[in-house]
Amino acid sequence: MRKAALHNLGCKVNAYETEAMGQLLKEAGYEIVPFEEKADVYVINTCSVTNIADRKSRQMLHRARKRNPDAVVVAAGCYVQVAADSLQKDGAADILIGNNRKKDLAVILEEYFAGRRKTRRAVETAGQAVGGELPGTPAAAPNAQSCVIDIAKTREYEALSVSATAEHTRAFIKIQDGCNQFCSYCIIPYARGRVRSRGAAEILEEARTLTAAGYREIVVTGIHISSYGTDMPEGERVELIGLLEMLDRVDGLWRLRLGSLEPRIVTEDFVRRIAALRTICPHFHLSLQSGCDATLKRMNRHYTAAEYAAGCALLRKAFDRPAITTDVITGFPGETEEEFEQTVSFLRQIGLYELHVFPYSRREGTRAAAMPDQVEEAVKKERSARLLALNREASSAYRRSFLGEEKEVLMEEKVTADGAEYLAGYTREYVKAAVPWDGRKQGRILRGRLTEMINEELALLTNVSDVADPV
Ligand code: SF4
Repeated sequence: MRKAALHNLGCKVNAYETEAMGQLLKEAGYEIVPFEEKADVYVINTCSVTNIADRKSRQMLHRARKRNPDAVVVAAGCYVQVAADSLQKDGAADILIGNNRKKDLAVILEEYFAGRRKTRRAVETAGQAVGGELPGTPAAAPNAQSCVIDIAKTREYEALSVSATAEHTRAFIKIQDGCNQFCSYCIIPYARGRVRSRGAAEILEEARTLTAAGYREIVVTGIHISSYGTDMPEGERVELIGLLEMLDRVDGLWRLRLGSLEPRIVTEDFVRRIAALRTICPHFHLSLQSGCDATLKRMNRHYTAAEYAAGCALLRKAFDRPAITTDVITGFPGETEEEFEQTVSFLRQIGLYELHVFPYSRREGTRAAAMPDQVEEAVKKERSARLLALNREASSAYRRSFLGEEKEVLMEEKVTADGAEYLAGYTREYVKAAVPWDGRKQGRILRGRLTEMINEELALLTNVSDVADPV
């Protein structure tokens, strides 16, 4: 039996696809081993969100080659999609698999092992070979098998699915791929192509399989989930909110959590319908990036700070203290001290639960990389530190606001705090809470009172009782 090892880089969508590829290989008869072990096949699902992600992707390919020089090294995913040319020259991979070809991994490997090494471009939907138009789309190479299509032209959702994940209580379901937004700093539309939505029937089937397998929480994920359904023909279109309403009716599903949302999707109608869902977690990641309209414009984000604030206000009206989390980029090209100050005061005014702070990282091939007035690294660092301090303050206040209240916690993992072992999980608001370690309670839903903070990030859950399982 051949051994295969997989390594994932990047986002939750990539993680989902890495799980799916692992399952495809298992079904094809491979034994899946940890990446640190000697394997016959190494699959690295690469990321290209920043120049650093590119570098890490290359490093992992070289590491795999070093671990077993006789192994077949497969590079898959976003970095392959945008930089196949340089990967060909690099020689670190034997097979290059771009986006929308990951579903064919087992077949591609079979062909490879059968000795049919021929360089080719992958064939678009109707069996028609296409050339690349994107920066870095691959050229033919004599000794690496290249399976990379012109992702900008495909309208087909790549059929990948998972029936189990590395986590035991929470599963991610991918509902769409691609993005049509073209934020000026982001390479994703080039790496992932246009919006392609997965059929609602397949999503529901996967949700039922995962729920029946014991997963209590499903996280709806994708590259730009707010665009779900926009590519479907009129008359057959299912919007994100409609899909969530269908998922809400899946028997045995306990919690539905959402991945990153576009602020503009948070309308009165959306909030009214989402607040009526039985399973929805009041945890909304609304991507902000900047609280300054001029910066948002240069970023090519399609909302203003005032529109963002209006979305938060709607959510706060419909839910009791919803967890609103966000991403902020510091030091975007041209960001002046005044612009940054606008972001700081906007964040203070909005009062979010958690900020994910990213110093702007230049990504070649994007418009922002070529913009004038690039901000010095030291300034980005200093601005990030200020936002991180703000984040600590805001997160701490948010968590503590629940002390003394009863909450339901899905128990997930063993953690150690101050030398003691605990079983920890999350409330619906994504506040981490724990009971003294008891392995029998893992995967169960407990109700109890949050009495004190064990440390800054972990609350103690006391007087616990089991919540009736919906399955
Ligand atoms: S919305 Fe913007 S940042 Fe997000 S994937 Fe699309 S282009 Fe990139």
